[in-house]
Amino acid sequence: MLSASLAGLSPHPGLAGQAAGARPAPAFTVISPQARTPLPASQAGDQLMVALDDLAPLFGLTVREDGIGGGLTVTAANGKRVLLTPGQPLASADGRLVSLPAAPVRDGRRWLVPIEFLSRAIAPVAGTPIEVRRGSRLVLVGDVRVPRVEVRQQEAGGVIRLTLTVAPRAGHQVTHEGNRLLLRFDATALDPALPAVTPGPLLQGIRLGDTPATLAVDLGPRFGSYRASAATRDANSEVIVELVPSFTDQAIPVPPPSPPAAEPLVNLAPPRPSVRTVVIDAGHGGDEQGASGPSGALEKEVALAVARRLRAVLEGRLGLRVLMTRDADKAVSLDERAALANTNKADLFISLHANASLRPATRGAQVYFLSAGQGGEASRAALAGGALPTLGGGSRDVELILWDLAQVRHLDESAAFAAILEEELRGRIAVNERPVLQAPFRVLAAANMPAVVVETGYLTNTEDERLLKSAGHQDQIVQALLQSVIRFREVRERGVAATPTGVSAPNPSRPPR
Ligand SMILES: [Zn+2]
Repeated sequence: MLSASLAGLSPHPGLAGQAAGARPAPAFTVISPQARTPLPASQAGDQLMVALDDLAPLFGLTVREDGIGGGLTVTAANGKRVLLTPGQPLASADGRLVSLPAAPVRDGRRWLVPIEFLSRAIAPVAGTPIEVRRGSRLVLVGDVRVPRVEVRQQEAGGVIRLTLTVAPRAGHQVTHEGNRLLLRFDATALDPALPAVTPGPLLQGIRLGDTPATLAVDLGPRFGSYRASAATRDANSEVIVELVPSFTDQAIPVPPPSPPAAEPLVNLAPPRPSVRTVVIDAGHGGDEQGASGPSGALEKEVALAVARRLRAVLEGRLGLRVLMTRDADKAVSLDERAALANTNKADLFISLHANASLRPATRGAQVYFLSAGQGGEASRAALAGGALPTLGGGSRDVELILWDLAQVRHLDESAAFAAILEEELRGRIAVNERPVLQAPFRVLAAANMPAVVVETGYLTNTEDERLLKSAGHQDQIVQALLQSVIRFREVRERGVAATPTGVSAPNPSRPPR
């Protein structure tokens, strides 16, 4: 028997004299918990082949050639053996016969085996899981997590949305560092499928980051902010990162209200409206604190806390696409808030606030939808003097507008949602004696979809203030909103009109859609 450890030979003697048809192919990368190592490969026909003497140092193998029988013996560090016979697409791995997609072939002084040799023959003798991903040229050895990350890019309304499907799911963090967003995954490495990105003002490129398991999103000069969210889908997770342009050098156009659609000549049975995208608007922010309570609770903080909890349940429980008008303590103009919802074709706009009153005893939640001018004490007060006595507490967000704006087309549905929400709030938290009201809120007027303002309680009331700061109470509000979204979605999908109660009815000339 001729014994030679082929591992001792020059690792790359060159492919001169190689087996017929074998030609160099892109290398594999072997990923283990300890290291990433390239593994040269060749292509023979439709087989991807690797050299036994390249495998030997990586996996601690000794390779011996039987000069008489022409067989090959591959011995692992634990003494277990794999026997190969040239010309036969088979191997005996520790006494068990396994099939190979191709037979070993001689290439000069080297022997080439199909890449599947690793998972089918070496893994069982080494007692280590080995996964071969031909498409992404990876060999995963041992306890490593290398999720596939497929990135899709879409653009709508100036916002670039990156949807990452992570399989199997892995935790992640998004950080903004300089002119990049870094997505760090809780994994050994990534197996990415990235879109070809044409460098633009918002997004310059997407690539693997400099550190393991990191994707880098290179940002352009128009980048303003980002929003990230995640949802679990079976064994996978979906991460959505939206790049929002800065609006410092140009105003966001607020789309004018579209005229009512003409009756189509042929009814092509368009899909029923549903609720797929929800915009959550945390009121106020930054220097604009909104109302405040005797113990110092700030409306802007209560609103953002409830908004974040609501986003989590709408995404996690209902799988909805959720956009936040702000996810930080910063000022956002009312027009920007509505414009975000309009440009993203949101199906529902929920603006979260907390109220204030000159009477400390006044308490309880209230739901507002836009007054169309023909009713409602608030709108009459607004028309008379531009002041809203129920809202008290100084400078607030109730800029008054004319009535002929986008929201008017959606008043029926806004009223329906407000009525549902009142029912859901009742029994969970204290509701004001005037639970549903109409008011000419500017943020509602410009919203081109069903929209409400939720005053979650009165911060000027000590009990409401104490409750609004508590996580348990915030969750009750979120549960009410969650159930309301579920019911509202059913109403939309079934085309059933929900009759609002307890409010001055909006103009009934347009049937609910
Ligand atoms: Zn407010």
